[in-house]
Amino acid sequence: MLLQPAPRAGVLLPLPLTGAYDYKLPKGTNVQRGLLVTAPLGPREQLGVVWGDAEGTVGDNRLKEAVPLDGSPVLPEKLCDFVDWVAQYTLSPPGMILAMALRNGRAFEPEATRIAYVLGPQTPERMTPARQRVLDVAADGLARKVPELAQLADASPAVVRGLIEAGALVATQLPEFERFEVPDPGFMSVTLNDDQRKAADSLVADIAQARFAASLLDGVTGSGKTEVYFEAAAEALRRGKQVLILLPEIALTVQFLERFAQRFGCRPAEWHSDLSQKERTRTYRAVMSGEARAVVGARSSLFLPFSELGLVIVDEEHEQAYKQEEGIIYHARDMAVVRARIEGCPVVLASATPSLETYVNATSGRYAHLRLADRHGVAVMPQCKLIDLRETKTEPGSWLSQPLRDALAATLAGGEQAMLFLNRRGYAPLTLCQSCGHKMMCRDCSSWLVEHRYRKRLVCHQCGYETATPPSCPQCGAQASFVACGPGVERVAEEFATLFPQARVAIASSDTMHGPLETQAAIRAMAKRETDVLIGTQIVAKGHHFPQLTMVGVIDADLGGSDGDLRARERTFQLLHQVAGRAGRAEKPGLVLIQTRNPNDSVMVALASGDRDKFYEQERVFRERAHAPPFGRLAAIILSGLDGALVQETGRMLAKAAPPAKGVKIWGPTPAFYHLLRGQTRERLLLQAERKVDVQAYLRAWLAKVKPSNKVRIAVDIDPVSFF
Ligand code: ADP
Ligand code: ZN
Repeated sequence: MLLQPAPRAGVLLPLPLTGAYDYKLPKGTNVQRGLLVTAPLGPREQLGVVWGDAEGTVGDNRLKEAVPLDGSPVLPEKLCDFVDWVAQYTLSPPGMILAMALRNGRAFEPEATRIAYVLGPQTPERMTPARQRVLDVAADGLARKVPELAQLADASPAVVRGLIEAGALVATQLPEFERFEVPDPGFMSVTLNDDQRKAADSLVADIAQARFAASLLDGVTGSGKTEVYFEAAAEALRRGKQVLILLPEIALTVQFLERFAQRFGCRPAEWHSDLSQKERTRTYRAVMSGEARAVVGARSSLFLPFSELGLVIVDEEHEQAYKQEEGIIYHARDMAVVRARIEGCPVVLASATPSLETYVNATSGRYAHLRLADRHGVAVMPQCKLIDLRETKTEPGSWLSQPLRDALAATLAGGEQAMLFLNRRGYAPLTLCQSCGHKMMCRDCSSWLVEHRYRKRLVCHQCGYETATPPSCPQCGAQASFVACGPGVERVAEEFATLFPQARVAIASSDTMHGPLETQAAIRAMAKRETDVLIGTQIVAKGHHFPQLTMVGVIDADLGGSDGDLRARERTFQLLHQVAGRAGRAEKPGLVLIQTRNPNDSVMVALASGDRDKFYEQERVFRERAHAPPFGRLAAIILSGLDGALVQETGRMLAKAAPPAKGVKIWGPTPAFYHLLRGQTRERLLLQAERKVDVQAYLRAWLAKVKPSNKVRIAVDIDPVSFF
């Protein structure tokens, strides 16, 4: 008799290994890609996924056995394909990408049940007011746990338990996780205007085709982009598809969930790092089972196990927050397009200020270009004026020029709201000793310590290190010799308060001192008109809608414009355009005043004239000439380690080992912008290649030629967007 050999397969483990490992599986297993298994690895049992055929030919007796999880759950095959694609593109071990897709091991366990209570057949002999309140709460027939009943009835848990003993409440079983409500595509739709209708029709047609298509939804702030992509989402939902909406920041999700609920009758599922473990498990399971029909999430939601994905939306697609810079370095906007392509579904990129890459894709016809030219309804784009700080000087230590002060006074006198924008947290970016010129630097980073005056601390914005402001200079010992140089939002708020002592002012800043709750409170107060003037960093630039806000002042438009980064101008334009877009979103027209020392710079000219496309065309020409993305390709190699000399040595060795190739140039090594970060020395190499070059293949060949010390970490950043 011939023995049937056990089935075998390559199993991918969520670990930094080079690929799948061979395992045998129990006889009778339906072996398929995506099957979740537990696989022994050394002394441990490890969650793994059947990835493909086994490679080796070793005998059964030498192969370990992987066992399918209870119920044989299977990861969607297209998610497996996506994992492979991202791994290959980012040059990462596939297991590390799988780890992102499995971030929730508990999600595959069978669902437990919870005990809850409903009204029972007995009426208790003894009735008290507290008992009555509990029974009144339970009268709606919903099953509740003891603490919940007690709390709602304002009774003690003992009262509830007494009712259980008396048989007035009886136990029932609830599923472990609450079910997600189903969004209703027709709950509350608006009547779209002509431009909006055209854009929505185009998206709806793509969804009807159920195949990959990419569109840039390009419209000024307030033009109704959200309303338009909600129409597309409604269509996908009607056709029984799941919808994924990516947002750049968690801070924006709360408002967004509400808005979604107004349109679709219930909140969507959410996915971001602020969720508890249990909420994540709930969402993950519901996405995989198809129970969750719409998900709003941060970039990591791209790795969720959608089974019927029919539409991907990337809102504010130009946002740098979509680039994950730690661990696996990837750009969620680009990967969203990839996921949609693999799923065979449309993807919508929405922005008022698209990235140049997306703009070029849209104007060249690779993506559909859906434009919304005007704000919806009566709102018009704000008037934008430059204040040339070379002519209109401010006094030393003052940051608000006379025209800006006048405009603030007029706005306040008119009972309207204003916003001041400065992209710098804290009180002052630099603390200097007046007697010796010593600059207060971080212990572990090549970065200035930023004074936070409220808390009387000096803080490193790179690593979070902080210290009390010392009484004397650590260099020369001079007493009380420190001066604050330059403004941060706290300092602008201080000046504002001396000029307008009556005005109600709030600061919104994205740092740990003014944590997310305080920031959200400031934003809510602004929306409710409990604040007259909001002073903030870029956190105030995004997405908020303050109907009474008619004036925006930009304190220093030149910040961040000169760091030699090829995207610096694009980014400054996007940010300031976004900030300006906060003004005059309702009936009253808006005014934007921009303080700058470079009024002739193309960014400032574009802002003042409102001619965005002219600016994009200039940037396109500039990038094309420089063979910069999207006309050429870039990849960065970042070396870091505690031993600075070794890091530099490795960088030089790597540069020497670069294989000569046509259309490829290697720059560096050069010290990274923060050449010290958390005590680690950092060096960068930059690869610049023509578009047709297979950058990944080149990098693989290159990196295979060097065996660096394990004391130096080498990270590859494909399509880098920042150069820190
Ligand atoms: P964007 O996403 O482009 O910034 P929104 O979709 O947020 O624009 O629209 C701005 C405001 O105008 C919102 O309050 C929105 O509800 C409203 N709005 C947009 N289009 C319409 C419409 N067709 N009918 C009614 N209100 C609309
Ligand atoms: Zn630091």
